[in-house]
Amino acid sequence: MELLALPAFTDNYIWMLHDGSEALVVDPGESVPVLAALKRLKLGLAGILVTHHHGDHVGGLAPLMELLQGQVWGPARESIPAPPDRYRALHEGETLTLLGQTLQVIEVPGHTAGHLAFYASPPDQAPLLFCGDTLFSGGCGRLFEGTAVQMWTSLQRLAALPGNTRVCCAHEYTLSNLRFARTIEPGNQALAAYQAWCEARREQELPTLPSSIGQELDINPFLRCDQAAVRAAVLARSPESLTAQQAEPAAVFALLRQWKNEFR
Ligand SMILES: [Zn+2]
Ligand SMILES: [Zn+2]
Repeated sequence: MELLALPAFTDNYIWMLHDGSEALVVDPGESVPVLAALKRLKLGLAGILVTHHHGDHVGGLAPLMELLQGQVWGPARESIPAPPDRYRALHEGETLTLLGQTLQVIEVPGHTAGHLAFYASPPDQAPLLFCGDTLFSGGCGRLFEGTAVQMWTSLQRLAALPGNTRVCCAHEYTLSNLRFARTIEPGNQALAAYQAWCEARREQELPTLPSSIGQELDINPFLRCDQAAVRAAVLARSPESLTAQQAEPAAVFALLRQWKNEFR
């Protein structure tokens, strides 16, 4: 199986997985990059996965329907602009099979109320996670429809996946996330090294993604709210809203997410 990140808009990636003849795509916010890749690689479109309802993830569905041989698979709890007879609504714990791959559905509410992630473990390859706008490299999605506790719980479920899982995020936000992460953990050596590597990738106009769960556990402050350095940084900024005694990881996460919203 080949994995491709198709750039879209200014900082989206539409992920494509293909076996040399058939492809699936994830979150086609626009159709043009998908059509170009299918044509260039002479691939059929066997299926479309959708993580959540935002326009930059579903805007390309309508123009792709004519070409699509299979279904659009997406969240049951959100309204996705696909023809009802071609749409398969998915719930937590369900599996689907596409291109001979079994994909596991994980509900990860927080960014939106019904957000899904898809996990696959292809034979002889590192596992794959398509996580939309829930987990980014060095960061996480904004809380538009869910609570901080929901998002923390969702991120913990993704963090529990195997360390070598390839993390396919929907946006190239890595460098800006790492700038914030360095503010939180200036002494994290793994983070400094990763930032240097990501800067070199971006200078060559290459994606920083996919990341891996193991990498994110080392550098992503939103997965590290149980770490002393992250808790100390949040406590130092918000001593009145968070006492050391109450510093549960979910409470640290809520303040960290708020801090990131205000960070320039
Ligand atoms: Zn979104
Ligand atoms: Zn997005």
